[in-house]
Amino acid sequence: MELKAYGLTHVGRQRQHNEDSFLVESDARLYLVADGMGGHAAGEIASRIAVDSISEFVLHTKEEEGTWPHAYDEHYKRLTNRLMAAVRIANTRVLEAMRKDARLRGMGTTVVACLADEETMSVAHVGDSRVYLIRDNQLSRITNDHSWVFEQVQAGMLTEAEAEKHPLRNVITRALGGALQVSPDASEIEMKNGDVYLLCSDGLTGMVPEDEILRLVTKNEGNLEQACQELIDTANERGGIDNITAVLVRAE
Ligand code: CA
Repeated sequence: MELKAYGLTHVGRQRQHNEDSFLVESDARLYLVADGMGGHAAGEIASRIAVDSISEFVLHTKEEEGTWPHAYDEHYKRLTNRLMAAVRIANTRVLEAMRKDARLRGMGTTVVACLADEETMSVAHVGDSRVYLIRDNQLSRITNDHSWVFEQVQAGMLTEAEAEKHPLRNVITRALGGALQVSPDASEIEMKNGDVYLLCSDGLTGMVPEDEILRLVTKNEGNLEQACQELIDTANERGGIDNITAVLVRAE
């Protein structure tokens, strides 16, 4: 399977700083989006540390080093275990940065991470940034938000529609930098020809409904640059209240 990818980020129309970071590392088939939070420049720093630290682990440690110093989960492939270890190490790096510099205290970041081999797309995430799969003209969400409203939806206390408008919709329940240990959720998808994977921050999903995301991506089939641009333009047309990041990966 050959993978083509493109990513784009935009500050949006209301914020002064872009606290999102992303990475498209085509040779290693590694794709990342992180959405940072924290005062002053701390959010930008947190999301950058997450992206740099995950890519450093994936690119610069050897396969046989496995997941050291983190545990190996036999339920998942080695690829996925490596990605989960990278996310756990990123958490440690964010905490270390805060320990060294008091001005960074309280910062944190989400992360969605995708890493592929020939057959499988491994996905790991923490927070409310998302991964979607577009296959056979259907959009499916691969990640479950680590957010207060999502937990309420799962518990039957809120509907999806209520969650989208809820004043606490930005409250996340898991982030890098939030605790000494972090548990990323992981999934493995057997790739099919024509699959498109979308990694994005909530600046996109908070502004553009899922049916429209599907329409914009399928309309620009094969032109990932154009699709990313139109996703971001649409989020900005709707208000652009947050930073917007979209990374598209197509399997062929
Ligand atoms: Ca955000």
